[in-house]
This record gives sequence, C-alpha cells and structure tokens, in this order.
Amino acid sequence: MRVLITGGAGFIGSHLAEACLEKGDEVYIIDDLSTGSLANIEPLRNSKRFKNRLFVHIDTILNHDLMEELTGICDIVFHLAAAVGVRYILDNPLKSIKINVQGTEEILEICTKFKKRVLIASSSEVYGKHLHAPLVETDNIIYGPSSKFRWSYAASKLMDEFTALAYYRTKGLQVVITRLFNTVGPRQTGAYGMVIPRFVTQALKNKPLTIYGDGTQSRTFTFVKDVVSALMGLMECEEAAGEVFNVGGTQEITILELAKKIIKAADSSSGYQLIPYEQAFARDFEDMQRRVPSIEKIRKAIGFEPQVNLDEILQQVIDYQKSIINRQLTINN
Ligand code: UDP
Repeated sequence: MRVLITGGAGFIGSHLAEACLEKGDEVYIIDDLSTGSLANIEPLRNSKRFKNRLFVHIDTILNHDLMEELTGICDIVFHLAAAVGVRYILDNPLKSIKINVQGTEEILEICTKFKKRVLIASSSEVYGKHLHAPLVETDNIIYGPSSKFRWSYAASKLMDEFTALAYYRTKGLQVVITRLFNTVGPRQTGAYGMVIPRFVTQALKNKPLTIYGDGTQSRTFTFVKDVVSALMGLMECEEAAGEVFNVGGTQEITILELAKKIIKAADSSSGYQLIPYEQAFARDFEDMQRRVPSIEKIRKAIGFEPQVNLDEILQQVIDYQKSIINRQLTINN
C-alpha cells in the first residue's frame, strides 16, 4: 500500500509514518516543518529496513500541483498537517486559519478527483467549553466570542468537518473524521504550549512547573501509539466513512495532580507556581476547563481501547526528554 501522510514530520505524523513503514507500506510525507521537524523522521530515513520506502517532501499542502501528484501516486491519505498548539495558534492566527481551512478543502477536492480514501485529523477543541463529561460526538458545541482567538482553531476544525461531510454526502468521498484528544508521547515538543513535555522538561531541570490558572482544569491523555493504531484501524474500517470519531483516553486528571505526578515520576526537586492566564497568554485567552471523551463509538467500530496508562506515558516522555538533554550536553562539551 502507498500511503500519503500530510504533516508526516510532526509529532503524531512521524509515529504514524513509522507504523505504516513497519507494516510494509510505502510512505510519502509532505510537511512544511512549521511545527514538525526533520529530527522526528531522521531515524526512519536512516533505517536500512525502510530504505526506498520513505519519500519526504518539504513543502506546503497549499502546493496544489505537488498535492495532486502525491495523491495520484498513493492509495490512501492521512491528513494530519495543521497549525497546532494553543501557543502557535495565538502567535500565528492568520496562517493557522489558512492552512487549516483552505489546506483541508484542497485536499478533500483532490482526494475526490483521484477517488482516494482520506482521514481528516480534527480535534477535541471542536467541542468548545463544555463542562460535562464524557463528550459524545453528537453533543452540541459552545464557543467563546471571535475576539478570543483560541476559538479560531476550534471553528476552523469544525469547518473542516463540515466540508469533509459535505464531500462525503454530495460527491461520495470516502472520508473519516477523527477528533483527537490530548495526544502525548516521545517527540512532542513543549514549544507550542503542550503541557506534558513542558512539565517534564521543567521537572528534569528542577525548575518550578508552570501551572496556568488554578490547576483545577482537567484533561485525559492518550499515548501517541494508541492514537496511531486508532487512525490505522479507522482507515481500514469500511463503515467509518462519513463518520466522526473521538480518539482519546479515559483517565481524567487535573493539571495540578498532573504536575505533582510528574515531579514524583521524574524524581525532581521542583515545586510549582500558579500563573494567571492573563500573564501566560497576554489578552483574550480562555481555557477549556474539562475535556474527557466518550470512546464508545470507536470502541464499537474497531474495538479501540487505550493500551498505555498515564504512568507509563510519563515514564516514556521522561526517558525521551532525558535522552535529548544528554545529547545536548554531549554536543556542548
Ligand atoms: N498548561 C499549564 N501549563 C503549561 C502548559 C499548559 O498549566 O505550561 C495547561 C493549559 O492551560 C491546559 C492544559 O494544561 O489547561 C493542557 O494544555 P495543552 O496546551 O497541552 O493542551 P490543550 O488541552 O489546552 O489543547
């Protein structure tokens, strides 16, 4: 099978590329390295086992001719390229909307033209500011005003979902939509705001962990390899076309509890500090207080069950961050 992965040099994309290569697929990656990095796919490029089966294009998904060429070559498309991370979205509002809305629309059009099955990575952000749990795919959606730019990401991903469903209904495009909840694991960077890599780095450096707000907000975290299995499973599931699926974990934890857990797991002498949102994000920021998925639908469709619990996830992230810090120390000496 030939697989095209947009955003294949990103955190989730690189793990997906690895799993497809392991399975024996030929993998084509397109990535503009806006938040991804070549370091994520370096081991795959250097692997003798994957020789002549990995093709990397550093380019934007807005390059229509290249996207047509790659989609024409490949059998299926995983569309993961997007502006991601709260920090990145707030810093790059226009670029984020353009890539998330226009980029996805073009990919859907091209996949329709070449009759290729496509999976769209949407986000749990789409639910907006619900307080109830668990969140079900058919739930209503509540957003803040357009002056609060965080919601531009949710709105752009929601527009992607509407567009994908419209292509399915009117043109028969085989499209699967996944709402990814907080996905974590090795290779994720804290540079765009993500909490676990940030807390782990702070803990390993024995610096205070930066908790935004009062730390009572909660999340569930899913190991990236569990997410990759879900994406691959849904791509193979005939009945998944034209449907929206939550992909996430079920173990809810507050950010304050998470900070304490990480300090302990990293054997760190760090404390933590509570940072008001206005200080962390300047103006117009709103957090999501709670975000827990119902995974009944994906369970029924493909038997999905997260395999890796939070303690194991944290250990893997700690080991990974330690290896990065050691590599930096070796280079500097
Ligand atoms: N967060 C935090 N300190 C940080 C980074 C994030 O307290 O240094 C909080 C953030 O406000 C949110 C949660 O951790 O409530 C998860 O943030 P992340 O950006 O990882 O994902 P989100 O769920 O907001 O998309």
